[in-house]
Amino acid sequence: MSSSSDEKKTILIIGAGLGGLALAQLLQQELSSSIKVIVFERDADEDFRDQGYFITINQMGNDVLKRISSVDDVFSHPSTMSYSQHQLKLVDKSMNIMLEQTSGEIKIIERGILRRSLLKNIDVQWNKRFVSYKILDDGVEIHFEDDSSVQGTLLVGCDGAKSLVRTQLIPDLQRNETGVVFVSGTIEQNEELSKIKQLVSNSLVQILGDQGHSLFLISTGQLWLWSLSWPSTNRIETEISLTQLLDKVHTNFNNEEFIRLIELSSSIRLDILPVYSFPLLKINPYPNNSRVTLLGDAAHVMTPHRGMGANTAFADAFDLIDVIRSDHTKSSLADYEEKMFKRGFQAIQDSLESTRMAHMLGVSARIRNYIMWLLHYSITLKNLISMPFYWYWNRTN
Ligand SMILES: Cc1cc2nc3c(=O)[nH]c(=O)nc-3n(C[C@H](O)[C@H](O)[C@H](O)COP(=O)(O)OP(=O)(O)OC[C@H]3O[C@@H](n4cnc5c(N)ncnc54)[C@H](O)[C@@H]3O)c2cc1C
Repeated sequence: MSSSSDEKKTILIIGAGLGGLALAQLLQQELSSSIKVIVFERDADEDFRDQGYFITINQMGNDVLKRISSVDDVFSHPSTMSYSQHQLKLVDKSMNIMLEQTSGEIKIIERGILRRSLLKNIDVQWNKRFVSYKILDDGVEIHFEDDSSVQGTLLVGCDGAKSLVRTQLIPDLQRNETGVVFVSGTIEQNEELSKIKQLVSNSLVQILGDQGHSLFLISTGQLWLWSLSWPSTNRIETEISLTQLLDKVHTNFNNEEFIRLIELSSSIRLDILPVYSFPLLKINPYPNNSRVTLLGDAAHVMTPHRGMGANTAFADAFDLIDVIRSDHTKSSLADYEEKMFKRGFQAIQDSLESTRMAHMLGVSARIRNYIMWLLHYSITLKNLISMPFYWYWNRTN
């Protein structure tokens, strides 16, 4: 067994994902004189696992990332897109815009690039799969699959949606399948797909097809990223062939450009991934253990349809360093967990609503579309009616 006998407090972080690394960076940057940070990651090295495509960072996430000096270069990286404002577009299966809303600041960042920057100068111990922890009189001891163990002052479980730290801390709190699955891909920006090009410019686009199918589209400048999701209770189906995928798009969407989008994609992941969420809870489930806490997906699993998971993890990291800075106590950790509960479970609820709205079936889907159109026309009508007033106002002022 190795143990830490340093006078400095030792913060043990499980998981070198976006949340764990953001926490490690903030701690190292702000508290390195009084604390030691060690991150333990199950993967063999940094490149072991594909990090996925792109991630949208909203103002909440951006406010935290701006404080981390190691990610400065991510903001100026050629693949990063920054919008001070962007459009959210809901589109029908024939590519007509049903609803359009202006939203705030957003960055679209390549995940691999963000993670690489977050890894800079962090002591990550690779190949260390956490299996359990034990509370000691003056700290916590963590155990790994390779039979080694380490002691520290505080354990932070940042080990993602299937967190083993959470499983031991709160055995009853588990993620559920939502009954929605997805596949995704990327395509080089393509002039041939002129309608899609027009739609995705400066926008996050959700296209609502038939039978609960939903196509999400986003532009990262050179690339367009798409994700097709649909309701499915068939858990035996883990992969879809390209022909089946094209057939699906052909059946449920009504524009040739959608077919071409798939056909021309430079990369497609044909494995069908289920979408998970925590149940909606009204009462804070975190048991307030003074030696163990959680952050990010380990604490609150949400569906990806609002792009909130990583942003929420960054906000957790920011709040947790305040607790550690003030020589963490049971009650300050309770305050952190209460704040994390309110923010995390609100995000779970908002994300689930978006998932449900995008994958409605039958009559519910028809009512949803009527409401969207009604909103669209009432906004257009309001703009038309107010136009002469604007004109008169501008003329007389
Ligand atoms: C398709 C999709 C799109 C998304 N898009 C967005 C978006 O646009 N914006 C957004 O904010 N969020 C988005 N999310 C959510 C976001 O990816 C997650 O919320 C975020 O990655 C959570 O960070 P984390 O650090 O908590 O967990 P993770 O990033 O999952 O990291 C967990 C780490 O822990 C390690 N680990 C796991 N178990 C162990 C163990 N036993 N021992 C040691 N290490 C372990 C893992 O290997 C991993 O490195 C999306 C998610 C999906 C699926």
